[in-house]
Amino acid sequence: MSDVYAEPTTAAGPTGPASLARYTTLRLGGPAGRLEIATDSDEIVRKVREAEAREEAVLVLAGGSNVVIGDQGFPGTVVLVRSRGFQVVAEEGDTVTVRVAAGEPWDDLVAATVERGWSGLECLSGIPGSAGATPIQNVGAYGQEVAETIVAVEAYDRTHHEVVRIAAADCGFAYRGSVFKYSDRWVVLSVDFRLTRSPLSGPVRYAELARALGVEVGDRVPLADARSTVRRLRAGKGMVLDADDPDTWSVGSFFTNPVLEREAYELLRERAADLGEPPYWPGAGDVVKVSAAWLIDKAGFGKGYAGPEGVAISRKHTLALTNRSGVASTAALVALAREIRDGVHARFGVPLHPEPVLINCTI
Ligand SMILES: Cc1cc2nc3c(=O)[nH]c(=O)nc-3n(C[C@H](O)[C@H](O)[C@H](O)COP(=O)(O)OP(=O)(O)OC[C@H]3O[C@@H](n4cnc5c(N)ncnc54)[C@H](O)[C@@H]3O)c2cc1C
Repeated sequence: MSDVYAEPTTAAGPTGPASLARYTTLRLGGPAGRLEIATDSDEIVRKVREAEAREEAVLVLAGGSNVVIGDQGFPGTVVLVRSRGFQVVAEEGDTVTVRVAAGEPWDDLVAATVERGWSGLECLSGIPGSAGATPIQNVGAYGQEVAETIVAVEAYDRTHHEVVRIAAADCGFAYRGSVFKYSDRWVVLSVDFRLTRSPLSGPVRYAELARALGVEVGDRVPLADARSTVRRLRAGKGMVLDADDPDTWSVGSFFTNPVLEREAYELLRERAADLGEPPYWPGAGDVVKVSAAWLIDKAGFGKGYAGPEGVAISRKHTLALTNRSGVASTAALVALAREIRDGVHARFGVPLHPEPVLINCTI
């Protein structure tokens, strides 16, 4: 199995002070007070409980691909989730329910499901990080999100000190959100996905993907074609991690796409009258989701726009902020994020919100 996560490269050892930069895809973050590696669910729970007994703050970290950690680091215990594996726990009709350990690398899982002819995750190919983190922000891309296939999440509840099974309906899944995001209460141990035995993908919903596949929106395609095409599209945007490509040293999209009431969208249209129709996707009810990348670009922050210390907007995607020098500080990245957020607000009156979880830093 590929080990997709960064691992210690110094003699600091699992409990000594260690820079968290080597555990994040942004390559940013100061030292951890204590670093613990947990390789199965019992060990994850034990490490968390031990830290609580020491009255230390706990940060659960997996692939580090959706966090911005401050230069001061994290003074408590960081538990690195490195559990692995998945198993079929139920089969019903043409569906199969797969229980996946929290630390299983996400893209390895997607590859395995595509190989086995299990449909439901194929459009989420190429996303870095762990399976256990996918419920946190209801990971989504190219017209698919994990809320469609997750049936339950097994988690350690730090409030009641017990392992619980949370049904999908109680996970509060929303656009890039859930009850787990910004909450310290639950530590995800495993996730159950219900997938469909089928050689074909779900209906392709994303126009760009349909075009690249040469099909109409709503058509189904062989699973492997969906996976390879999504990976190709993502790679072209620097959205597949590549150790040799600083345009991918990011957290993916730094800002979520703003969700606007119809009235707010009309105001945006007025302010953008000289630029044409601001692109949007219809949302549930009377809201629309506006393209953050378009707003950022039209506010004057194009691809490659540089901030201090060699941080910059990716040259391949306007929404990705990168530590392209590899030696910048979190303060520099956050300064760039602030400049962009404030610039977009001044130009269009639309607030941008960060998608990653900010730890001991703020924009
Ligand atoms: C190049 C690139 C492209 C990306 N593209 C996408 C995309 O298309 N769509 C998308 O939605 N995201 C995308 N992301 C963001 C990111 O990959 C996902 O959010 C991913 O699920 C994060 O997983 P992780 O294991 O790296 O989480 P981490 O960064 O380690 O953690 C993220 C948050 O989840 C918490 N967490 C992690 N594991 C657990 C656990 N077991 N229990 C409790 N809390 C936990 C952490 O405490 C933290 O708050 C992208 C990132 C990069 C770098």
